Amino acid sequence: MLKQSNLTVNAAGHLAIGGADALDLAAQYGTPLYVLDEDMVRARMALFAAGMARWFPAGSRPLYASKALCCKALCAWAGEEGLGLDVVSAGELHTALAAGADPESLCFHGNAKTADAIRRAIDAGVGLIVADGTEELERIDRLARQAGVRQKVLLRVTPGIDPHTFKAVNTGVVDVKFGVPIPTGQALEAAKLALGLENAVLEGFHCHIGSQVFRSGPFRMEAEVMASFLDQVRRQTGYTARVLDLGGGFAVAYTPSDPQPDLEGMLRDTGRHLTELFTGMGYPAPAILMEPGRSIVADAGVTLYTVQNVKSVPGGSTYVALDGGMTDNPRYALYGAKYSAAVADRAAMPEDTAVTLAGCCCESGDLIGENIPLQAPRTGDTVAVFVTGAYNYSMASNYNRVPRPPIAAVRGGTGRLIVRRETVDDLIMYDL
Ligand SMILES: *Cc1c(COP(=O)(O)O)cnc(C)c1O
Repeated sequence: MLKQSNLTVNAAGHLAIGGADALDLAAQYGTPLYVLDEDMVRARMALFAAGMARWFPAGSRPLYASKALCCKALCAWAGEEGLGLDVVSAGELHTALAAGADPESLCFHGNAKTADAIRRAIDAGVGLIVADGTEELERIDRLARQAGVRQKVLLRVTPGIDPHTFKAVNTGVVDVKFGVPIPTGQALEAAKLALGLENAVLEGFHCHIGSQVFRSGPFRMEAEVMASFLDQVRRQTGYTARVLDLGGGFAVAYTPSDPQPDLEGMLRDTGRHLTELFTGMGYPAPAILMEPGRSIVADAGVTLYTVQNVKSVPGGSTYVALDGGMTDNPRYALYGAKYSAAVADRAAMPEDTAVTLAGCCCESGDLIGENIPLQAPRTGDTVAVFVTGAYNYSMASNYNRVPRPPIAAVRGGTGRLIVRRETVDDLIMYDL
């Protein structure tokens, strides 16, 4: 079983999540069920807030990238633990506002924002809008003028860093749909354009190098590229940035073979490096924003399923068919994501059977994973799939008209629903 302090085996031999018996949760709320350890999410949020307050320049703070798991409860927890929020659509914005988020703490992103979404963000009074390029800068400027406000913006740039080879690469990684490339000189030109706008007020710059960053090296390199870009902008235009947003991407261990990232150490190293860089340049250090998403929620999440049947193909695989699948977790189908799992009924028993966890949709590719070691599963067992807190519920679909599962939050060993189960009536609600 995945080694995580909040995953234990209780006296009955059942898996417990944050102290709550997985079988009790499944019986109470039904399956499939997303379980989220609220204590763990809050502790992770607090770790980022404290780490950035301690190691980063004054005014720095984390923003929770709500796309990882967006519902009203998560938005409220982020505010309570001292985090701002990243929102990327009118829907995420609406959720944050409905949760009572302080609009000033919101940062509105997206590479193809509609005029309607930008207008909503401006009307709501969001603290920052991240412009993805020059056209969008001008559009935000025009819409802010119409609304009679001066809207703070960041310009998204692409620094040209590959977080996995940990290299600055001038081509390739800048050939993406997001942001204005620094290496081509376009970012500097866009900054000059931004500085000429009246109603879009340039606060600084934003970048995001990717996901699953396990060590501070890529973030430190990102800080170096961005600091020298800020310096270049200052030399050419006299403009000093007040905010530098370095994006998200802190890694998560999905399976027992992944290393556990040292989040605190990464924050310490990155924060110290930033402070040294700006001091060394004689540049007043901007407030740093970072946008952790998966590292806040992924490993706090477990999905519970009920085994519907087990089939062994001689010389082939053992298929364990679940009452959910790609509709609640599309990550294997999308990118071959790896998961580990356990039979919650016999969590302490040896995981002596390698199985294929199969979903219930009419697609042979609807799998949660292959070659997953399990405690010889039987029909009726509850299977727990670990580290499903991020990009599962938020990416869920109604393919085959499968209703989306609810989310039960566990706090102090007790569960409560924070998102209810979709019903088959919900599914025909929009049909005319
Ligand atoms: C996806 C994304 C994040 C969050 O990434 P994680 O890997 O979940 O931390 C943060 N910022 C931006 C701009 C993103 O696109």
